[in-house]
Amino acid sequence: MIEVPSPLRLRLDRDALVANWRWLAARSGPAACGAAVKADGYGLGARAVMRHLAAAGCRDFFVATWAEAAALMPLPEGVSLSVLHGVGASDMVAARTLPVRPVLASLAQVARWREAGEGRPCDVMVDTGMNRLGLRVEEAMSGALDGLRIETLLSHLASADEDSDQNAGQLAAFRAVREAVLARRYSLANSAGICLGADYAFDLTRPGIALYGGTPRGEAEGHIRQVVYPETRILQVRDVPAGESVGYGATWTAPRASRVAVANMGYADGFLRCHAAAGGGASWQGRSLPLIGRVSMDLIAFDASDAGAISEGDWLALDYDLPQTAVRSGLSQYELLTGLGKRFARIWD
Ligand SMILES: *Cc1c(COP(=O)(O)O)cnc(C)c1O
Repeated sequence: MIEVPSPLRLRLDRDALVANWRWLAARSGPAACGAAVKADGYGLGARAVMRHLAAAGCRDFFVATWAEAAALMPLPEGVSLSVLHGVGASDMVAARTLPVRPVLASLAQVARWREAGEGRPCDVMVDTGMNRLGLRVEEAMSGALDGLRIETLLSHLASADEDSDQNAGQLAAFRAVREAVLARRYSLANSAGICLGADYAFDLTRPGIALYGGTPRGEAEGHIRQVVYPETRILQVRDVPAGESVGYGATWTAPRASRVAVANMGYADGFLRCHAAAGGGASWQGRSLPLIGRVSMDLIAFDASDAGAISEGDWLALDYDLPQTAVRSGLSQYELLTGLGKRFARIWD
């Protein structure tokens, strides 16, 4: 097959990824710091994220499904991987074959693992108030887990990105479960939970979004570095006379004779119309190019009137500071990353 370069790319900053993990590891105190790499490493590419973080010393990784786990084989030396969604009946072949632990998430899954797991170690999720996945606290404390080889007992915070009373409530519930259920390690905090302080760290933390440049809470501001830099190539630069419009629905009209750069990216790449609704844009050689008109499926337009000699083939760097872009677009930082589509080449510096 011939190699065809993509006109869209994500520049990915390995040093920033590793620096973010180191900051989160330091904030986790004596607890180990793992990494959530579900949804293909939040869109960056799980295999590369795992390789870079494993080289930096990260040992504990989490994916959502067995298909994601299988895609990460073989694992780097000394690394452990857990599947957050546990084991359904159709997962047992994968669960018995792969060197990966399920995070058992219901009494039915516990029974399934006892019957067919051949005494292998597992992780267990206890629900302390989110009502998503996990055994209820009273189920976990009823003896239902006796005799299982539990490597890590987990719970997950529902509101750690807010100053909510729910955080202290979940912490107290998790402490009670920890007294009652024997496991080698206990783990509660995601990125935002790490920011809540040392009480939440226990033996292992599980950041995701902050590794990839998201700021989960104010405590992380100024410490978390941007990792993902989307870039798109210009297809053509057009002269648009004053008074003519650009794009579907003619939502932008040139206020003066304008130069318009049309680039290779659209909502099919995760760059949704709501990005454009409230401003934003791109930059080229230090000049900013405001986004104009509606985002098409594969195309997007910028006002390049003040961008000098910009021309076909030039690369534009999108404004993609995650906290700012989230506020502007109304999308979460998580949606901004995981939505970035398959047409972007992922290129690590
Ligand atoms: C996704 C996830 C994480 C990571 O959460 P962030 O908010 O991205 O840090 C940790 N634990 C569980 C159970 C998760 O589902």
